[in-house]
Amino acid sequence: MRDPLFKTQMFRFVDVLPTLRSPDEVVEHLSEYLNDTHTPVSTFLQGALRVGRFIPPVSAAIIRKNILAMANIFIAGSDGDSALRNLHKIWKEGARFTVDILGEAVVGEREADEYSARYRSLLDFLSNRTQTWQATTSHACNEPPFINLSIKISALCARIHSADPETSIAAILSRLKPIAIRAKELGAFINLDMEHYGLKELTLEVFKHLATEAGLADYPHLGFVIQAYLRDSYEDTEKMLRWARQCDRQFAIRLVKGAYWDFEKVMAAQRTWEVPVYTSKAETDTNYERIARLILENRKYVYPAFATHNVRTISFAATYARTVGLGPGNYEFQMLFGMATSIRRALINLGYRVREYCPIGELVPGMAYLVRRLLENTSNEGFLRAKFGTNTSVQELLRDPASQRAQEDEHSIRHPERSAADKSRSGGAVSSDPAPLFVNQPPADFTVSSVREKMAQAIQSVSAKLGLKYVNVIAGRSRISDEQMLSINPARPDQVVGSVSKATTKDVVDAVAAARRSFIDWSKTSGEDRCQFIERLRARLKESRYELAAWEVFEVGKTWAEADADVSEAIDFCAFYAQEMRRLNAGRLTQKTAGEVSVESFLPRGVGAVIAPWNFPLAILCGMTVAALVTGNTVVIKPAEQSSVIAARFMNLMQEAGLPEGVANLLFGDGETVGALLVVHPEIDLIAFTGSRQVGTEIWEMAGVTHANQKNLKKVVCEMGGKNAMIIDTDSDLDEAVLGIIQSAFGFQGQKCSALSRLITVGDVHEQLLPRLIEAAAALTIGLPENPGTDIGPVIDRAALEKIQSYIDVGKREHTLAYQGEIPSELTGFFIPPTIFTDVDTASRLAQEEIFGPVLSVLRAKDLDSALKIANDSPFALTGGLYSRSPKHIARVRSEFLVGNLYINRPVTGAIVGRHPFGGFKMSGSGTKAGGRDYLLHFTFPRVVTENTLRRGFAPEGGSQV
Ligand code: NAD
Repeated sequence: MRDPLFKTQMFRFVDVLPTLRSPDEVVEHLSEYLNDTHTPVSTFLQGALRVGRFIPPVSAAIIRKNILAMANIFIAGSDGDSALRNLHKIWKEGARFTVDILGEAVVGEREADEYSARYRSLLDFLSNRTQTWQATTSHACNEPPFINLSIKISALCARIHSADPETSIAAILSRLKPIAIRAKELGAFINLDMEHYGLKELTLEVFKHLATEAGLADYPHLGFVIQAYLRDSYEDTEKMLRWARQCDRQFAIRLVKGAYWDFEKVMAAQRTWEVPVYTSKAETDTNYERIARLILENRKYVYPAFATHNVRTISFAATYARTVGLGPGNYEFQMLFGMATSIRRALINLGYRVREYCPIGELVPGMAYLVRRLLENTSNEGFLRAKFGTNTSVQELLRDPASQRAQEDEHSIRHPERSAADKSRSGGAVSSDPAPLFVNQPPADFTVSSVREKMAQAIQSVSAKLGLKYVNVIAGRSRISDEQMLSINPARPDQVVGSVSKATTKDVVDAVAAARRSFIDWSKTSGEDRCQFIERLRARLKESRYELAAWEVFEVGKTWAEADADVSEAIDFCAFYAQEMRRLNAGRLTQKTAGEVSVESFLPRGVGAVIAPWNFPLAILCGMTVAALVTGNTVVIKPAEQSSVIAARFMNLMQEAGLPEGVANLLFGDGETVGALLVVHPEIDLIAFTGSRQVGTEIWEMAGVTHANQKNLKKVVCEMGGKNAMIIDTDSDLDEAVLGIIQSAFGFQGQKCSALSRLITVGDVHEQLLPRLIEAAAALTIGLPENPGTDIGPVIDRAALEKIQSYIDVGKREHTLAYQGEIPSELTGFFIPPTIFTDVDTASRLAQEEIFGPVLSVLRAKDLDSALKIANDSPFALTGGLYSRSPKHIARVRSEFLVGNLYINRPVTGAIVGRHPFGGFKMSGSGTKAGGRDYLLHFTFPRVVTENTLRRGFAPEGGSQV
């Protein structure tokens, strides 16, 4: 365990073990994991693996036996009955226990019901079976109840919505309240465990609701957890204390350091959110002691439980308690079952109250969950490792964390580079890599109530602006035409979002002419000035982010999170392309030769037509436009008919940012007329198109025709559709896979080019996956997208509804309908419920054609070979995915699954600018990769200038300047 790489691999192996069915699989996985590390594996293990390859059953049995033995150390039993012996031992020793149920993540209502039933029956069981123990125990006064249950709220709700906490709280309470009421009847204690940061506010809210429920308001034996590694934990404790004083409520607080440290750091980094946890152990420990003081000083309201194995922390709490006049009976220490036995015994001997946190659950799967939840965090410089694993001195172990922190601060001031390197080695947040220039726009965090309020207000204010008229913009002036085109809300087809002037042929001619005229100046504007314009646009987009997202909710039926993601992506495109333009602007030196300097620079192509789809109505429109403009082209923008109003708002923002006349012109209208006219116009040099395969290939063809007076060959940047597949391997983590599939297939109603539409299950994983997948799909809420709790909104229009419906009809005729959701009767818009078909073969229409709706086809493959064959059997090559825990399989899929964007062990949608350059090949696109470092090149003509620097035998050193 001292080698971090080896430890990771072993934990990963324990994590996957429960899903491995045959001895061969066990032996194969272990050797794959161990071969993956460069750590010298012990000769014993190597020998065992060699033997294992010849007689797998023997090795597999030995491996399982060892893991079981390990599980027995940390898990009290597989259920109440089998845990009883351990609980009895704990009691005999003079300690108490709290019991926690381990198990798979809850993805459906049935699973949440099952958990709640398990908690209730465990309460009854424990109360019943421990009566004689209780009778013979001498209870100290103030002692909390003997039976103590720890509950995770995520086990009681199929889908927790950050944007709609009220609904989630109601769902959780509907299952939690009966457990708490039963606990009260039995005189038992209920503690709400704390999980990851995203659930923190919700957990505290659930607690407040529970503790003020009729029938429980006077019951003091309820508690929650404060995680001292969270930067806002002290403030949270104060808030909860204020609330306790207000309603004169008593409760318990289990003070822990926190077990999701790595997870929190990674999640925050991925979302470019502030890291919610302290990154140094000393800071966490110092904060723990501050909070310990606070709760001890408020003993009137709080019964403190100090959950720690750290002797310094324990001593601090006990000493401070004495200082404020509290004896050992006024609080307790908690420790994890199977850990720190000697410390626990010492405390009992000293007369302190000690409780063990006892997970129960099936041993081998339980071990996997435990590994995930607890042990992976031992990287967090734990006391136990310092105490028992290394030879740290007593003085060091008992040292005041505040002084250690001060020393760390001083060290980092004196040696900034060294301390960064130290921290990155120890898993700290600071990386020694140079900071990237570009930082993604953080998505809105809807767990924060002020953020939710902003979005709700934006929806309110946009709803008051529906139905307005919008006009074409040519050379900076409005151009009104006789014919109007309506953009309607797909969730309520009778609601007009806006009405736009339909461009005429003359408008097209004028717009291209305006762009051509403006090109003369714009192409000569310095690259830096153009970047600054794009950055001003970015600032406008940022200021209007909630308003723009609200328009998306009404105009294209995006849910809050989906709309916010689209706006964030648009903001990212501005920042990223400005950064990339600065890089291009610097020019490139080609390979060096003495006496000669060659510089490659990039010229704009000319006038571009930007033809955009409706499904990412702002991001794609903005990305293509900005890429063209920043490189010095001028454009005529033709947005999709269905998302005209968002395009009009985008044009406004460009004008506010200082768009010079004619540099970008906006024309509303049908693709077949306005779009097609632009494509064939001889003065168009560049077409940036994103849309369907049919239209994309037509444009590709039309752009290939060269007119007599045409100056340039037309460049087509062409991104089209997909028929994206995801392979689910036999050993995949189904908790994660189910949620990944749901998000990939049904996010924005399956109307993403990256959406999953072919799910390929390997071997018999199908049988375990499908019921859970169906339950998870059934837990999705179909509703109006303006409601924060909606998962599934409408599809874009009647034509889409009918097309998707026709595919569903084909599916019903030719395959097996495994699941179809129900649309609530009050919804009148273009709603299609999530639909899953099984028994789909790879040649069928359902498996070959892009449906662009919430329809998922499941195809079975006997092994990975045939899964890969099915996956690649498509005219498209856009996104693809794999869930697997076999390093060998992951490596194979990496090299053999041919798509533009392959995602492993995560959803296949949600590409992020700069991090995941996006786009496909085959009939999915021309391979231009939006949001990637080479994208801007497609909007330019590269030009090389070579200068001979040798003058009569004299060559200047260092060459010429770029
Ligand atoms: P679409 O092809 O119907 O329309 C796209 C744009 O092309 C619209 O502005 C439309 O008015 C215009 N258009 C239509 N006919 C035209 C013609 N004959 N000449 C010129 N322009 C014409 O696509 P859509 O329904 O708006 O978008 C959905 C499609 O886009 C899906 O196939 C999806 O997979 C694809 N898409 C791909 C990506 C990607 O990055 N690969 C991203 C988003 C969407």
